[in-house]
Amino acid sequence: MGNMTIASPERYREMLESARRNGYAYPAINVTSTQTLNAALQGFAEAESDGIIQVSVGGASYFSGQRVDDRVTGSLAFAAFAHEVAAKYPNISIALHTDHCAKPYLDGWVRPLLAHEADEVAHGKEPIFQSHMWDGSTVPLKENLDIAEELLDLSAKARTVLEIEIGAVGGEEDGHRADIDEKLYSTPADGIEVARRLGLGERGAYMAAFTFGNVHGAYKPGVVKLRPELLGEIQREVASVAKAGNLGSDYTDAELHDDKPFMLVFHGGSGSTKGDITAAVHYGVVKMNIDTDTQYAFTRAVAGHMFEHYDSVLKVDGEVGEKRYYDPRSWGRTAEDAMAQRVVEACVELGSAGKALK
Ligand SMILES: [Zn+2]
Repeated sequence: MGNMTIASPERYREMLESARRNGYAYPAINVTSTQTLNAALQGFAEAESDGIIQVSVGGASYFSGQRVDDRVTGSLAFAAFAHEVAAKYPNISIALHTDHCAKPYLDGWVRPLLAHEADEVAHGKEPIFQSHMWDGSTVPLKENLDIAEELLDLSAKARTVLEIEIGAVGGEEDGHRADIDEKLYSTPADGIEVARRLGLGERGAYMAAFTFGNVHGAYKPGVVKLRPELLGEIQREVASVAKAGNLGSDYTDAELHDDKPFMLVFHGGSGSTKGDITAAVHYGVVKMNIDTDTQYAFTRAVAGHMFEHYDSVLKVDGEVGEKRYYDPRSWGRTAEDAMAQRVVEACVELGSAGKALK
């Protein structure tokens, strides 16, 4: 079969370790269709970058067909399609991920997917996804970590990586709105509690999205103040508590990764400044979610096509239009190129361009 492109569990760990050790991060691109999925693959390949492609709860449902509206079916269909087409890009590795799963969706989405994968792994196969996110940002920290602990055990059985979110991200995602206020900033105490409950990798690999002023969606400059240095404070505090032997387990310096014990995730990355992105990566971010900016790149190109060729895509004044302009592939190709270009930009910004693992 040759190189399969979709990362094995071992390859995904290698990817994350390489990003962590060498100070870069992977764009995690949200997709909602085979067109946007192909565009993301095209972008990663052009950038010679490994990467992460993910579906949100709404994206997964949409993938199943809007009247079917079943997020497990949509996730499995997305992943099956991705495994097939990604195999045509032998020089990069791609991890598949399910994004933001809030509490109401756990039983109808991530738990059945993890159970399915644990079963596949028990039969000697590899999991279809490489990681899943539990979004506990809307429940109290204790409940967030109770559920994270249970899901971390399931993830170990499924050979997948768990992603968690600590603190509340503002803005809007999949119709869910959160306030833009001081809760947007996590604290070092939150980090210590996470390490106490979930360990620092020895009980299963996980990534943590601590909030540092993030919002989902695009906002005009000045609305939000990102404080990436907060990530550095959390990393240093947790490393020093661990070294003092106060986390209930002895960690070597190697396990604490140069005082960066957490693999971090940057949510709401769209619209961020170059400076904030560079700082966040410096403090240990290995994955940055990008949705709004790639959505816009895709749709902007479609809008351009429709405005430029309006008298060909529409049947105006008794005319019949021009098939070559309303064939969905004509605007589809343009849109995919534009989105792929935005993915390349993200790879360059995050430092993953040109670093695909051999
Ligand atoms: Zn988030």
